[in-house]
Amino acid sequence: MPSERGMTISRFTTSRNFSWEYKHMNDEAYKMFESVLGPDNVSRDPGLLDAYTYQWLGEMIGEPNRFGPFRPACVTLPSTTEEVQAIVRVCNRHGLKFKAHSTGWGLYANPGEEGVVMLDLRRMNRLIEINEKDMYAVVEPYVIWAQLQAEAMCRGLNCVTIGAGSCTSALANCTSLMGTANNNVSMGYNERNVLGVEWVLPDGEIVRLGSPGSGAGWISGDGPGPSLRGIMRGTFGALGGLGVFTKCAVRLYQWGGPAELPSENIVSMDERLLEYPENARLFVPYFESRVMMEEALARIGESEVAYSTGLLERGLLTLGLGVDNLNSAEMRESLLPTIPKNFFTCLLVGNSARELEYQTRVMNQILEQTAGRRFEMMEQEGFRDIITLFLVKGGSVPAKAVFSPTGSFNPLLCGFFGTRRTLVKGMDDAEEIKRKYIESGLLADDMAEGGWSPLIMDHGHMEYFEHETLFDPHVPESTLALIMLTIETNQSLADKKLMIPFASQVKVARAQGLSVHDSIAAHMNCDYRTWQRQFKQAFDPNDAADSCNYITPKPKA
Ligand SMILES: Cc1cc2nc3c(=O)[nH]c(=O)nc-3n(C[C@H](O)[C@H](O)[C@H](O)COP(=O)(O)OP(=O)(O)OC[C@H]3O[C@@H](n4cnc5c(N)ncnc54)[C@H](O)[C@@H]3O)c2cc1C
Repeated sequence: MPSERGMTISRFTTSRNFSWEYKHMNDEAYKMFESVLGPDNVSRDPGLLDAYTYQWLGEMIGEPNRFGPFRPACVTLPSTTEEVQAIVRVCNRHGLKFKAHSTGWGLYANPGEEGVVMLDLRRMNRLIEINEKDMYAVVEPYVIWAQLQAEAMCRGLNCVTIGAGSCTSALANCTSLMGTANNNVSMGYNERNVLGVEWVLPDGEIVRLGSPGSGAGWISGDGPGPSLRGIMRGTFGALGGLGVFTKCAVRLYQWGGPAELPSENIVSMDERLLEYPENARLFVPYFESRVMMEEALARIGESEVAYSTGLLERGLLTLGLGVDNLNSAEMRESLLPTIPKNFFTCLLVGNSARELEYQTRVMNQILEQTAGRRFEMMEQEGFRDIITLFLVKGGSVPAKAVFSPTGSFNPLLCGFFGTRRTLVKGMDDAEEIKRKYIESGLLADDMAEGGWSPLIMDHGHMEYFEHETLFDPHVPESTLALIMLTIETNQSLADKKLMIPFASQVKVARAQGLSVHDSIAAHMNCDYRTWQRQFKQAFDPNDAADSCNYITPKPKA
């Protein structure tokens, strides 16, 4: 295994030692929470609190059993913006830190230190409005993508359902964390799809961004009221480090497909659509090289014909095919000779038969120009239905491929936005570096072909790729290999002056006890931390919002 370069990862040198006394939760503040929320909606039961430290990838920052290193001080369940505001104010008054938790799918919502007050927003679950005319929906934090998409599709509308899966919070994604999805190609990155926002600042003040700020409805996030989109989230989000978002409007788009997509054999590779939508067509093209594949992607983006695109590299695809690891290995052996290396999936959805024909002609022309050929096996009924469902909704195939074989995974290049050519450099880099870690036997063997991605954004001028890496969370050496691989890959990108992927770096930074932006900014052309710290200080004078995934008000020693 590659050397550790003298690094100390705190999780391997410390053992978890929770105190059963609540040093950080003073009784006076706790009583105030009870009086605001009622005693049933606040708890400091240790068993319950530990549930907020237990998380996928907890093993990267805590123990192999997935418990993170910090137990929260207490958990609160507000149901209104005013209750959120009251909790935040009590925290400020008593010197307590707080953290928002919407659907809590990853370790991002875990407390970053001892004594954090959790705001679990599950009671704020209202889909407040769907405005069909102006094409937006107003949601609270616990509305998930599946719910929003189902409601939108009934009305001939649709939304960007992210790759995390349709069970995650639409608001958390739009306001606070990333926004990458297969259907970014037709509906954009979710940073742009958040319109009006209601925001409880870290000191308890309520701000309404965009048109809600001047009582003009939710249609705009940038005016006639104030726009703070860049400060609020920028490209990746503040991950809870700048307060609590309590409502937001999400942009909806035209949907040319049917109102529902009924299927059978749900959550299996045998899932079948009862009827294939007449306005949809699946293309699965493959190419001689990554460079040609990327060229085709850029042209598809520019031509604006695709509804959704996706990439699932061979290694990852075959890991997810079988019912168990042995079966997957057998299937890989038999199928591998028939699967080309450089292929992606692309779903066309026309608003009419005529539009679908136009899209098809454009696709065929692009494939001709880039020497792309059709991977017909994948376009036929067996695979076609499951791929189509996946591209429309965000489906179960990658979840099975990434979680079942070893119990855990973490993406390399998570947050890697490339441009023409830089995408391919990032993909090549990750593959080459990963290969030697696989040889060590500490990571799952996916032939270093674990790529997954939505691929196209911004009409082909920005492209996204991440490389899933499966490791065994119960074997500390395997987790360490993952961390070292991520560090080495990110360093290699930095050496080439390519973007350091935020969402990969944030986890290794936490494993090392570093502030993520301190570990990224050093490699960028300008030191954005100066401004970011000033925003943090101005918006959060008491440093009350847990900033473990954002920026600390002062540089760490
Ligand atoms: C396996 C996996 C795959 C993922 N894939 C993708 C992907 O393909 N594309 C993508 O865009 N994202 C992805 N994510 C990231 C993330 O899950 C999503 O962005 C998601 O929409 C947010 O839901 P969540 O359950 O993670 O939110 P949470 O865990 O509840 O929160 C995420 C972060 O946002 C903060 N936050 C949550 N709610 C609020 C609020 N109301 N106010 C202020 N801050 C808040 C939290 O403190 C936390 O830091 C993935 C995560 C995982 C675990």
